[in-house]
Amino acid sequence: MSTLADLLARETREGELYDVLPDGRLRCYACGHECPLPNGAIGVCKVRFNDGGRLRVPWGYVGGVQCDPIEKKPFFHAYPGALAYSFGMLGCDLHCAYCQNWVTSQALRDPAAVAPPTHASPEAMVQDARRLGARVLVSTYNEPLITSEWAVSIFKEAKAAGLVTGFVSNGNGTPRVLEYLRPLIDLYKVDLKSFDDRHYRELGGRIGPILDTIRRLHAMNVWVEIVTLLIPGFNDSVDELTRLTDFLANVSPGIPWHVTAFHGDYKMHDTPDTTPEMLMEAADIGHRAGLKFVYAGNLPGQVGSLEDTRCSSCDETVIARSGYRIRDYRITPNGCCPSCGTPVPGRFDGHFAGQIASHPRVIRLR
Ligand code: SF4
Repeated sequence: MSTLADLLARETREGELYDVLPDGRLRCYACGHECPLPNGAIGVCKVRFNDGGRLRVPWGYVGGVQCDPIEKKPFFHAYPGALAYSFGMLGCDLHCAYCQNWVTSQALRDPAAVAPPTHASPEAMVQDARRLGARVLVSTYNEPLITSEWAVSIFKEAKAAGLVTGFVSNGNGTPRVLEYLRPLIDLYKVDLKSFDDRHYRELGGRIGPILDTIRRLHAMNVWVEIVTLLIPGFNDSVDELTRLTDFLANVSPGIPWHVTAFHGDYKMHDTPDTTPEMLMEAADIGHRAGLKFVYAGNLPGQVGSLEDTRCSSCDETVIARSGYRIRDYRITPNGCCPSCGTPVPGRFDGHFAGQIASHPRVIRLR
């Protein structure tokens, strides 16, 4: 019987993000590992491999498709209320013990993670997204960088159809993959999991490429929002959160920072859940660092006004939320605060069409 890995090895085509090294190995540039791959070798991600001097990469399937409110990604400053057609493949270049998408991300590492792939084409996915009223297509669930060629093929179709595109990613990029994505990507959420390189090494990465990705995306004018899952005892020290938020404010004080609550998942069930008080203390640190838009997530109704967007000048509430639901939308057609006229950074339509989806919905590809 074929294993999942055998099956996926057939669902590939030649990739574009690699070079042949002088010694004949291939160097992959899809993520910050930049694996050097001798013939027959597979990358850390377990989905890209050297087959006779050509890099084979995932192609032609999805591990899952879901219609989500864009607030779930979370993007709070991009097309509020829009429906985000969200797709993922399988595999990841990190191996976080607390992963909340482990069925898709760890499918190739962990026999307990089972996520059978479904055949798909970019044309069918974009048609499906339009039929369902999606404004945005997002590559998510597994790590999208390691399947960038597939995402780009879908984003080309999506752009031709007038849709917005985005990644929900760990940010472990390279200059080359970011340049590759640049013409076709509008939104990018980075999970900044820690501000300690030792912690990143425990998760299988390094902090350097992630910080570089955040800086580059902002310089490229891609709309960036950052999420930090606050894990008690792992990344919640005042010192670490101060350094993390200082870094973000230094890139731009207008970058939204979402600090979200952890609950036991995957291999990390012994760590206590994050409390509302912990989120609010972390948010205070972000505000003190100079960040203008700090949000507390995963505990709706328990974090005061930290679910709302407030004007950075006059403190007026310009979007009120509860969880993924928009309770009030007051941004002007030209993207400003209705009270004082200060621009709200982000990507906003001139007209708020109401919220298309306030609950996630799993769908089957047609
Ligand atoms: S995507 Fe990353 S982990 Fe996978 S082969 Fe390329 S560099 Fe290595």
